[in-house]
Parts: sequence; C-alpha cells; structure tokens
Amino acid sequence: MKLLNYINGQLQEPVKGQWLDNIEPATGKVYSQIPASTADDLAQAVAAAGAAFPAWAATGAAERSTIMLRIADLIEQHQERLAQAESQDNGKPISLARVMDIPRAAANMRFFATAILHQSTETHYNEGHSLNYTLRQPIGVVGCISPWNLPLYLFTWKIAPALAAGNTVIAKPSEITPLTAFLFSELCIEAGLPAGVLNIVHGRGTEIGQAIIEHPKIKAISFTGGTATGKTIAATAAPMFKKLSLELGGKNPNIIFADCNWEEMLSTTVRSSFSNQGQICLCGSRIIIERSVYERFKTDFVARVKQLRIGDPSTDVNVGAVVSAGHLDKIMGYINSARQQGANILSGGTRVFLDGRCAEGYFIEPTIIDGLSADCNLNQEEIFGPVVTLIPFDTEEEAIAIANGTQYGLAATLWTQDLTRTHRIAEKLESGIVWVNCWLVRDLRTPFGGVKSSGVGREGGWEALKFFTEAKNVCVKL
Ligand code: NAD
Repeated sequence: MKLLNYINGQLQEPVKGQWLDNIEPATGKVYSQIPASTADDLAQAVAAAGAAFPAWAATGAAERSTIMLRIADLIEQHQERLAQAESQDNGKPISLARVMDIPRAAANMRFFATAILHQSTETHYNEGHSLNYTLRQPIGVVGCISPWNLPLYLFTWKIAPALAAGNTVIAKPSEITPLTAFLFSELCIEAGLPAGVLNIVHGRGTEIGQAIIEHPKIKAISFTGGTATGKTIAATAAPMFKKLSLELGGKNPNIIFADCNWEEMLSTTVRSSFSNQGQICLCGSRIIIERSVYERFKTDFVARVKQLRIGDPSTDVNVGAVVSAGHLDKIMGYINSARQQGANILSGGTRVFLDGRCAEGYFIEPTIIDGLSADCNLNQEEIFGPVVTLIPFDTEEEAIAIANGTQYGLAATLWTQDLTRTHRIAEKLESGIVWVNCWLVRDLRTPFGGVKSSGVGREGGWEALKFFTEAKNVCVKL
C-alpha cells in the first residue's frame, strides 16, 4: 500500500518519487510506504494554501463550521476502519483506538467547528475619548506538526482550530504513524473541503518537517512532540518571528496520600501508568507515595499490573506494542540502566516475544521500578514507555519538592480526600495541568499545555483560537 500526499485537493505522489517504509509495530514488518516529501512538495502545498486562503478566510464561520462538521460525521461513519488503522500503525490496543483516539478526533473537529460560531471579541470604551474594538483575524498559511503517540487525535487537535479560525494549513503527521492522516485526507475530499485549505505532506521530520519550519510564507507553527525537537524548532522559527505553540515532553508526578480513595486511586494509576504502553505525554511516570502506605501500594499495584494482558493489539488486550524498534531499544536501555544502578524491578523489565504473527513485534512488559534516587536519570528523563518508578515521601513539602524536581512541568496527579491540602498543593505544583482524584478527564474548553521544558503556549478552547488569529485593535475617536 502506498500513502499519498494531499495537496491542492488532490492525492499525489512525492515530486522526487522517493518513499519511506512504514512498519507495523506488532509484527516488525513493513506494510506500507509513505512519501519522503521534500521542499518541492512543500512549495506546491504552500502555493495551494496561499491561493486558497483569501476565499477560506472570507467564507465565514458558519460555512467553515458546516464543512468541518461534515468531516466529523465522516470520521464517525468510518470509525471502525480508522480504529483498525490506528492500532495497526501505532501498536496500540484496538479497544483504545475505538474508545479514545478516533472518537476524540471527531470531537476535536466538532468542538472547534462549533466554538467558532460562539467566538466574540473585546471592546474597550475609553470614556469621552475613544471606542476600541479588537478584530481577531486569521493569520494566513500555518503549519501543524504532530507526533506518533496519539496520531489522529493530536493531528485533528491542531488543524481543527486553525481551519475554524479561517487559516489554511500545511500539516505533517509523524512519519512513524502516517496512516490515519492519509485516510483523513480522503474524508476531507469526500466532505467537500475546498482545494488547498488543508494540505498534508508526509515524510521525515528532519527533512519536510524542518522545511515547514523554515518556509517564510508559513506564519505560525503549532508543534507537538519531543522537547529536543521543540528546541530545534524554536531556534529556527523564533528569529523569523513566527508565532509558536510548543507542546513538549513530560515526566509527570502522580502523588498519592494515605487518605485517598484506595480503589479508585489504584485502578486509575494502572491506567495512568500503562495506557497506550505508557506513551501518552500525560502518563504519570513517577509515582510518589506517602511512606505509611508505600508497602501496601507496592503489593496492591504490582498485583494489579500483573493482571494486564499483553499481546497482539488487534485482539482483546490491555497492552500492545511500543511504536518502533528504536523506541523499544531506548526503553530497554533505561530498564537496563536501572538494573545497573541496583534498582528493584518489582514487575516486568523484559522484552516479550510472542508467537505467530507478532513474533517480531516490539512488546515490553509493564515495568515497575523502585529503589532509585529522585535525581537519577530514570526519574529525570522522559522514557515515554511502559515504565514507572516508585518514590516514597514523608512530608507534603518533600512530595512537592520531588514532584517539581525535574526540568518538565506538563501534568501532575494528586490523590487525597483532604480539600485544603488539595488547593495548597495544586497551587505549588509547577505544572500546566493538575488532576485531582482523576486522570485524563478532558474538557476541551480548558487550557492545555506545559511549563518549563514541557512547552510554550496553551492549546484548547479559546486559547487555540487566539493562537490561530492575530489581534488587531481598531481605535475610533468619539
Ligand atoms: P518528535 O519530536 O520526534 O516528532 C514529532 C513530530 O515532529 C513528528 O512529526 C516529526 O516528524 C517532526 N519533526 C522531527 N524533527 C523535526 C524538525 N527538525 N522540524 C520539524 N519537525 C520535526 O516526537 P515523537 O517522538 O513523535 O513524539 C513523542 C514526544 O511527543 C514525547 O516527548 C511526548 O511527550 C511528546 N508529546 C507531547 C504532547 C503534549 O501535548 N505536550 C502530546 C503528545 C506527545
């Protein structure tokens, strides 16, 4: 199977005729090819997006909304096909793609398609002098670059507000998980999205991704991915004065106090640790536990995690394959490093070799580690796999210090029934998001993003629509 670029409303092969292999993580085998796009493909995409911009911006929010809602309907009509594609391409359990990834992709389109109908702008009445009103106008051609962990979910999360606000878009999905973005381009054609409004170019981050960042006619970049990539992007785009939104890595703390609702905490912590093989930027990878319940937590958590079924993601399992051979090596490297440092591997710790179709797939047991200091590499660096570490604490201050003690600050989870403690700690956590007695409960209206090395800017709700528009103040003398 060959996937194609979507440029100026057409599906087309890369100009230079070069292709990349796309591998199914569960089997380790190549199952499709994607365009290795270059600056030539980008030039066509930018020309198409530039030509489409005036009409799309002038179309009006209601018409843009109608087309986007049609796309959302089509995602739902093709839900099963898309879920199977996502599972095959990423290695995630099909059940997760069915209940999370694909419904959320439709929800993203619907949310911003309707949000734009309710957007209002500010006025400032300067008594006796002037009336100021603010226009929020689309920027022009913008770039959206997304990662492999939640492919269609994050791809649509970026392009939906950009399109709703009246921009035209050059989008690049991860070369590791390009399939659902390709299927999405077919749905855009079916929905009647005007040619050039959305252009999807496939290929390597270092080649076509970097070309998008460097292109002078692409005025804003919305990026989700690793912190190191974010740094490269900022170094290129900032001196060009591009608007930048960077959603980067995390090393999220999950703080557990003895007074929490034990059962809810336990079942949610299993999910927040190992959903999507631990490859969600919001996963709680450092579990910080009050010492009085540390041993109890260890026993109960290990018992619960050992019940997780690992296997072929197209079947009824809880844990599928990690995304690539390179990523498998990276994760196993961290586990081996923990062993060398004398840590206790309480559960997992090895690669899993399955029989049959998945014999060469990239499977790792859910792994729980303790006995490491809070400042060692496993507790400081993002592993982004099915690996969590346990750290005990004695006082609230110590818990906060450990939680804040990394370069990251994306999300934190807090388990306690004490209301005053909740507010006290939530205020002190260096984190863009704090979940109290829950995890991954999303409301698309809320600001989403990280502090410190976890990113710059916020997505979600009005924040995203503000990012994808320029504010212009008009001052009228009274
Ligand atoms: P990555 O940074 O390697 O790649 C992300 C995207 O950027 C891909 O499409 C890639 O092709 C592209 N890219 C790579 N180099 C580029 C360059 N020089 N210029 C332009 N584009 C380039 O990240 P990944 O490995 O795909 O994803 C995992 C990372 O994403 C983790 O660090 C995870 O925490 C992070 N993430 C963050 C969030 C968030 O909301 N903060 C959400 C999901 C994932």
